[in-house]
Amino acid sequence: MTDSRSTTPPLRVAIIGAGPSGLYAAEALTSQDDLDVSIDVFDRLPAPFGLARYGVAPDHLSLRSVRNTLANVFDHPAMRLLGNVEVGADITVEELHRFYDAIVFTYGAATDQRLEIPGEDLAGNLSATEFVNWYCGHPDAGSEHVEATITAATSAVVIGVGNVAIDVTRVLSKTASELDHTDMPQHVLDLLAASSITSVTVLGRRGPAQAAFTTKELRELGELADADVLVDPDDLTLDPVSRADIDGERRRERNVEVLREWSTREDGESRRTISLRFFSQPVEILGADSVTGVRVERTRLDDDGALSGTGELVTIDADLVVRSVGYRGMPLAGVPFDSTRAVVPHDEGRVLDDTTVVPGEYVAGWIKRGATGVIGTNKKDATATIRSVVADAPQLPRAARPDPDAVTALLSDRGVHYVNVDGWRAIDAAEIALG
Ligand SMILES: Cc1cc2nc3c(=O)[nH]c(=O)nc-3n(C[C@H](O)[C@H](O)[C@H](O)COP(=O)(O)OP(=O)(O)OC[C@H]3O[C@@H](n4cnc5c(N)ncnc54)[C@H](O)[C@@H]3O)c2cc1C
Repeated sequence: MTDSRSTTPPLRVAIIGAGPSGLYAAEALTSQDDLDVSIDVFDRLPAPFGLARYGVAPDHLSLRSVRNTLANVFDHPAMRLLGNVEVGADITVEELHRFYDAIVFTYGAATDQRLEIPGEDLAGNLSATEFVNWYCGHPDAGSEHVEATITAATSAVVIGVGNVAIDVTRVLSKTASELDHTDMPQHVLDLLAASSITSVTVLGRRGPAQAAFTTKELRELGELADADVLVDPDDLTLDPVSRADIDGERRRERNVEVLREWSTREDGESRRTISLRFFSQPVEILGADSVTGVRVERTRLDDDGALSGTGELVTIDADLVVRSVGYRGMPLAGVPFDSTRAVVPHDEGRVLDDTTVVPGEYVAGWIKRGATGVIGTNKKDATATIRSVVADAPQLPRAARPDPDAVTALLSDRGVHYVNVDGWRAIDAAEIALG
């Protein structure tokens, strides 16, 4: 360590969002040796981990260990958690600049995309966000609405063929005993145990070769205790574009292998069926007051890979539709935003206002790249952004009020009850005690 490092005050860094990308950014900052840092991680929720807590399906127990790894960063003496503080509502970005030399935006992409087809607002429709928030026990979950919708349902259509769509399908199709050992809230377990749903149809606009799900997630559908998976063999006749898409792509190749095996299965005796239908584009959600079906147009891929409708229409009876066609970032007041891509624009993690770098502002994770990639993808991404922070540190304009007590005093004066690491650990311990 050089003398200059020990005499320069630590770089005060605010990280906005305690999801995987925020905590990987904190880890990258605390594990570098070039400068001293002092870090506050803000989150609008009292508990950290973002979608690693309120997105990852609770029946994927092995992913809990990721949370434990992410939590280790709070043991570092340079770290504070300021949970239950919503940036933009409880404190503005402009105000943050008074207290911090650098701000890293890692606030994720928590809104779902819409289909923009008629009938999308009829009762009986849910977005994946609503359904996932409910089964994960998210504080924002609109439980009454979701519960009324699920309770009334017998036939579900899930729109989308990514891993979230597969999560939704699996959760709707599992038996009570398959869900029992998860950490889903008890009211969720009770309602799913009493569910009358007997069929779940999953719709993909393109073919099996283009589906975004991973093979591990897909395979799980075939291993459920009381659900049969059905695939139409015609969907697996590969056109030249699909053959080219699969070529050398192990994930796609394996997905098609799994689907091919399922396409030879007969409808069995199970209580539920899961039908995976490709080249099927929803064009209208039918119903007068609530959903009664989905009108679907058969599609094809042109030679250049573009999707077109064939005009062939079928109706699938359904009283529940869950759309799962992607997540979208939202603007945060005072931060540049590219509304076409729904991301904060950047150059190597440095926030850009048009083409100009905004001094002291950085971005990482889903709000930087868009809503793609698994938890681990955010580590490399956040580390790259922190390399820019560290490189810029000597030139950054310093904050007027760097004393860590100054920002918490402002929050307290405003009546904001922020949750620190001890407070969150107490909540966590209480939740674990409750099972
Ligand atoms: C339903 C679902 C299931 C998934 N399952 C898996 C899986 O099984 N395995 C896997 O590897 N990946 C999974 N992923 C992907 C993974 O969750 C993401 O890659 C990852 O969470 C993105 O991290 P992030 O930190 O950028 O965003 P997020 O995880 O969304 O974290 C953003 C954080 O910012 C906070 N925040 C938002 N706005 C503000 C504000 N104004 N002020 C303060 N805080 C704010 C939020 O509360 C949140 O805690 C899943 C994603 C979804 C949507």
